[in-house]
Amino acid sequence: VRIAIDMDGVIADVYAGIATADALGEAMREPGFFSGLKPIDGSLRGVRELAQKHDVVVVSSAMYVSHALAEKHVWLATYLPWLGPDRIVFCGKKRVVAADVLIDDSLYQLEEFPGHGILFASPLNANDAWPHRVEGWAQLTLELSAYAVR
Ligand SMILES: [Mg+2]
Repeated sequence: VRIAIDMDGVIADVYAGIATADALGEAMREPGFFSGLKPIDGSLRGVRELAQKHDVVVVSSAMYVSHALAEKHVWLATYLPWLGPDRIVFCGKKRVVAADVLIDDSLYQLEEFPGHGILFASPLNANDAWPHRVEGWAQLTLELSAYAVR
């Protein structure tokens, strides 16, 4: 099973000190924002666990501000150095990614994705309705460990 995992809001914590989508949009425009992010609890171990059983790619929308691309690249090399270039996809929208499952905290990415979408809980999507939602990495790895081995 190929599993595409979103970076912002699923692996990297973009919501520390952020209360609204507008505030997040503004913060992202500051160079240094993406480099300074902390990993979300359990995410680094979780990505590794999933990668032991599945074909995992980290997929990030990184084309909207120019510093995002380089900062995200360095961030992944720092926090997930074993991942390697074959497992990183930087793109505009994720609908172009060929994967069976997409884990994302943004509803619009899931709505356009042709495979199975899992909404990862974040402070800004608490009121979004989606058939498959997980509250964090513990639940996510538990559920996905039941999927068929690739
Ligand atoms: Mg996200």
